[in-house]
Amino acid sequence: MNLFCLFGSHKWTGCECCNCGKQRDEEHDWSRDCRECWRCHKTRDQEHTWDGCKCPKCRKWRDADHDFSKNCGECAKCGIQSRRSHVFKDGYCAVCGIVDNRTLLDEAHKKAIQWWESDSSASARRRGYAICDGLDCGRHILPGEGYLRGGILKDIMGLDSSPEIVCEKCVGR
Ligand SMILES: [Zn+2]
Ligand SMILES: [Zn+2]
Ligand SMILES: [Zn+2]
Ligand SMILES: [Zn+2]
Ligand SMILES: [Zn+2]
Ligand SMILES: [Zn+2]
Repeated sequence: MNLFCLFGSHKWTGCECCNCGKQRDEEHDWSRDCRECWRCHKTRDQEHTWDGCKCPKCRKWRDADHDFSKNCGECAKCGIQSRRSHVFKDGYCAVCGIVDNRTLLDEAHKKAIQWWESDSSASARRRGYAICDGLDCGRHILPGEGYLRGGILKDIMGLDSSPEIVCEKCVGR
């Protein structure tokens, strides 16, 4: 035994002496579990302060009260996946508001078709193809193909950018 410990001068780290391992009923560490000290495993009668599925005071988690308000498919707090499916309507989920990529893609393609039929695409039609506006892309887009991007940004974020025609590869970026 450490000489200091022998004379009662322990070196306490929380509830435990790091020299001899003696324990005291003081300064327990509840940071990993509100109900059990992770150093000495003493338990106490204390409920977790549940905030949904997590206790903000310790590291405990429970498989209940998940937060699917931002995404029906995934808890915003712990990331657990759910089996709920989105209720897509007009390009957004009516429950959590997440964007429906499929619908947006369809929309973007429909807008590209409109663009091909409009005056704005006159020079591209004369040339026989449009050039992808995607960064460092430059692929050729044939009439009736591609996706129009500017209009989408305008719809979603209120940005007034001129429409860009992009290829399949660039539309997701
Ligand atoms: Zn000691
Ligand atoms: Zn303890
Ligand atoms: Zn807790
Ligand atoms: Zn959760
Ligand atoms: Zn949803
Ligand atoms: Zn491209």
